[in-house]
Amino acid sequence: KMKLDVDVLRYLSKDDFRVLTAVEMGMRNHELVPTELIDRIASLKYGGTYKILKNLLKHKLLHHDSSKYDGFRLTYLGYDFLAIKTMVNRGVFTSVGRQIGVGKESDIFEVANEDGLVMAMKLHRLGRTSFRAVKAKRDYLRHRSSYNWLYLSRLAALKEFAFMKALENHGFPVPSAVDCNRHCVIMSLVQGYPLVQVKQLQNPEIVFETIINIVVRLAEHGLIHCDFNEFNIMIDDDEKVTMIDFPQMVSVSHRNAEMYFDRDVECIIKFFRKRFNMSFSQRTDDSEDSDADADESDRPSFFVIARTAGFLDKELAASGFTGKDQHDIEKFIEGGDDTDATVDNEGAEDEGVSNLNQTNIEGIDSLTLPEEGEQIPKFNEKVKLEESNNGNKA
Ligand code: ADP
Ligand code: MG
Repeated sequence: KMKLDVDVLRYLSKDDFRVLTAVEMGMRNHELVPTELIDRIASLKYGGTYKILKNLLKHKLLHHDSSKYDGFRLTYLGYDFLAIKTMVNRGVFTSVGRQIGVGKESDIFEVANEDGLVMAMKLHRLGRTSFRAVKAKRDYLRHRSSYNWLYLSRLAALKEFAFMKALENHGFPVPSAVDCNRHCVIMSLVQGYPLVQVKQLQNPEIVFETIINIVVRLAEHGLIHCDFNEFNIMIDDDEKVTMIDFPQMVSVSHRNAEMYFDRDVECIIKFFRKRFNMSFSQRTDDSEDSDADADESDRPSFFVIARTAGFLDKELAASGFTGKDQHDIEKFIEGGDDTDATVDNEGAEDEGVSNLNQTNIEGIDSLTLPEEGEQIPKFNEKVKLEESNNGNKA
């Protein structure tokens, strides 16, 4: 479990944030930002940057590496602090409370504003685990090296925020989107529990209908959730349903749309069959004459629905989420069903993932810090050029 000691926020000075921001800026085109470059960007007087780097390192907001050249990169904690600081400055919330969820690719905390209103803060952490079939996309990851967890997490947050807003506008039962910065989304707190924790329901049939209706209505709006299961559906004491977790959504025009749609439906059916002993007809696997059988089956037909689909593109764009963003994130998310399988070299697929993990999760225990007063070695210009050439091929 990750610790988010926001007390540290109070001890960080303006200059601390200036240097932290300088590292973030450097990470736009450096996996490891050369110390000298950080100093140049931050441009503090009298070599002040070096002292501050040490302080940030002590609080684990940065990772230090001098194996190739001397440099720093943000840890997830450092990125968290930049987002939190920005949100606090905007007045979105004033305090961070307990952790309420650990997702596959996120940490969820309670936050509260001045009036004591409690909200949910989702910090996206792409690259922490293998995001579904990351392996299938190793070529993508190879070209874009590990600093991209930052980019991808930011993209995931922006996408989630944009979709939440659009879905809310169309009357879908989703949390209310409050704000978004970097990899962080603030939304209303959903009362209740994930469906996976619910052992009994007053009206399982009604809840089931409600949930399947959401899948159908989503498709009518041109969208497929793609991760619609008992972990991403919240139920409150009145058995009211709320859908959460949207970074992996795709459009019904996606080439695997029907498969994703059927998988979402099947997930729900399977869960209700097991947990609430509901009975369903067997799945008919021929899509050919499925239209004719549609009435006898419990399954909604993707083709019937998608025919009339309208899209939410305009609203998504209004939140700053573009078609290119969708393309980028789909490339990263989508899985083993992909046909453009490339070079299949031994174990290389895991490399990208474990690199990401090392970068972000493992602390900085193993690094050698310069002693007090010792000069941090300058980075080597030549190394930097080679590095950035490699990094920019993509
Ligand atoms: P992930 O993408 O990592 O799966 P989720 O968005 O599904 O993240 O959130 C993980 C868990 O955090 C959920 O299963 C739920 O228990 C909790 N959670 C997420 N969003 C909220 C919210 N708005 N209100 C209350 N709990 C939430
Ligand atoms: Mg989830």
